[in-house]
Amino acid sequence: MTAHPLFDISGRTALVTGSSRGIGLALARGLAEAGCTVVLNGRDEDRLAEAAAELPGGTVHTAAFDVTDGPSVADGIADVEERVGPLDILVNNAGMQLRAPLLEFTDSDWHRILDTNLTSAFLVGREAARRMTERGHGKIINICSLQSEVVRPGIAPYAATKGALKMLTKGMCADWGPSGVQVNGLGPGYIETELTQPLVEDEEFGAWVRRRTPAGRWGRTRDLVGGVLFLASPAADFVSGQVLYVDGGMTSVL
Ligand code: NAP
Repeated sequence: MTAHPLFDISGRTALVTGSSRGIGLALARGLAEAGCTVVLNGRDEDRLAEAAAELPGGTVHTAAFDVTDGPSVADGIADVEERVGPLDILVNNAGMQLRAPLLEFTDSDWHRILDTNLTSAFLVGREAARRMTERGHGKIINICSLQSEVVRPGIAPYAATKGALKMLTKGMCADWGPSGVQVNGLGPGYIETELTQPLVEDEEFGAWVRRRTPAGRWGRTRDLVGGVLFLASPAADFVSGQVLYVDGGMTSVL
């Protein structure tokens, strides 16, 4: 039994940034299971090789480069296209969190989180889109957050990056849509990963997440796969500039 042909993305080539672990690795696994050739990215080559060995099939590649550094991104994308082939799908997933009261937040941490969560999507997105627009097709999915919409104390800089990433998504849609490239966001709610480990380990916070989430639980990385497969597929050819929140309902309720 096969899925509807509108959801068929087998044979496409996908790059997922920040996919040596966590959400990125789960998304890469989902794309590989859907028949894509997948390129894993992160800064640590050994970790990438370990992650690649976990994924199914012989169509997994790795590309170690720092998504915050313009020249490394330009070289990295050129190398991926030469070695693996033209990119059909880009998932801008690399990101970080720094939790601190805003009055204590340092200049260097501000620039670090902005570079990692926002500038990276601009740099990698622009480099991939230069090629996708030329070819007249492509799908870019920016991993936003429920914090693209709402915030709580101690994470203002993170929310600022994710709010801006939502608007960058809309701007990319405006600029690149006429050339056949669809750009959308996926906004995870609270998902158990290394990034949220301190929160998962905090019993009070965990209970708050479960109470606040209509689904009554933390999200799992696997919960995000269906949304990305949809946004990467021909089923989403007329969907652009949207953010799909996959948060168990959290952004919808008070
Ligand atoms: P994670 O477990 O900390 O993984 C982050 C990944 O990004 C790693 O593979 C890391 O590899 C890579 N990375 C970080 N900086 C990089 C850089 N400069 N260049 C290349 N790769 C880099 O994070 P996660 O929880 O899976 O989160 C993934 C994305 O989802 C982030 O954008 C995050 O904001 C978003 N998100 C997460 C949640 C959640 O609940 N977890 C909720 C909403 C949104 P290296 O360190 O080896 O480079």
